[in-house]
Amino acid sequence: GANTKALKIFVAGHHGMVGSAIVRRLQAGGYTNVLTAMRAELDLTNQSAVHAFMQREKPDYVFLAAAKVGGIYANNTFPGEFIFQNLAIQNNVIHSAWEAGVQRLLFLGSSCIYPRECPQPIREDYLLTGPLEPTNQPYAIAKIAGIELCDSYNRQYGTQYASAMPTNLYGPNDNYDLATSHVLPALIRKAHEAKERGDHELVVWGTGTPRREFLYVDDMADACVFLMESGVPSGLFNIGIGTDVTIRELAEAVVAAVGFEGKLTFDTTKPDGTPRKLLSVDKVKALGWQAKTPLTEGIHRAYQSFLNGEKR
Ligand code: GDP
Repeated sequence: GANTKALKIFVAGHHGMVGSAIVRRLQAGGYTNVLTAMRAELDLTNQSAVHAFMQREKPDYVFLAAAKVGGIYANNTFPGEFIFQNLAIQNNVIHSAWEAGVQRLLFLGSSCIYPRECPQPIREDYLLTGPLEPTNQPYAIAKIAGIELCDSYNRQYGTQYASAMPTNLYGPNDNYDLATSHVLPALIRKAHEAKERGDHELVVWGTGTPRREFLYVDDMADACVFLMESGVPSGLFNIGIGTDVTIRELAEAVVAAVGFEGKLTFDTTKPDGTPRKLLSVDKVKALGWQAKTPLTEGIHRAYQSFLNGEKR
């Protein structure tokens, strides 16, 4: 309708990779009333602060993109912070939203909510069918509780709170710290630095044979706004690109984009992790959404944003 662009939309977590992409997408889509709050103004782990904020602002729609996130090292080292902060943020935001009369909300998580040994591609109904990957279980259990919180409020209170779980994301505002980053930003950085130094080889961890799926974060944001605009009332939605590549293929695409001309070597003393992780995207596709950015184009854009970030 004509005035949907004036909806007051709260994006929780707008400094993060996903939250910042949602804000960009909303602004590009002509939304004029996008609400954000700096961490210094609003601590999302503080229940009374979040309650007061929601009562004052009473947004029409909430994107819950705020979370404590990190790679395997961070998840393993700070498990208490991962489970507590994620449970606190989602409890506070979802419950306070309901108290303030917010009818619609989208809760975001990640594909690590699914069992470790899952048939591929991973369908939404595989949730809670097997044991989780132990290294990120505290994070995953918090996110599963958030999905259940949304579903339970929908059942008891008639709200329309949905959940979206993306595959591996990459793009602007990604984490390029080699100790804690995921493979795609790590390879961008390694390839760039190898090129700058004039190295003859680039070391890729593991055998190069595991398969992973990568979604450009602006496509994730587009899917989130699509779910909002299409009025999806509830449920769990996987968001992915629908195809995966081997780590070797990924590394070849990254070095081509960066212009590193040395050779790839594989450090098989490093772990491969799970052999394959591909989401089924049939459910969101049936609603009419699909990813737009091919991996090669996304890598080029991510590399540009990496270079811009370096200059700052
Ligand atoms: P995962 O998807 O949870 O396994 O996490 P990652 O994104 O960290 O790793 C995915 C795969 O990429 C694993 O097989 C890694 O061994 C491999 N890989 C290759 N090179 C790198 C690297 O430089 N950094 C990271 N994080 N992973 C790498």
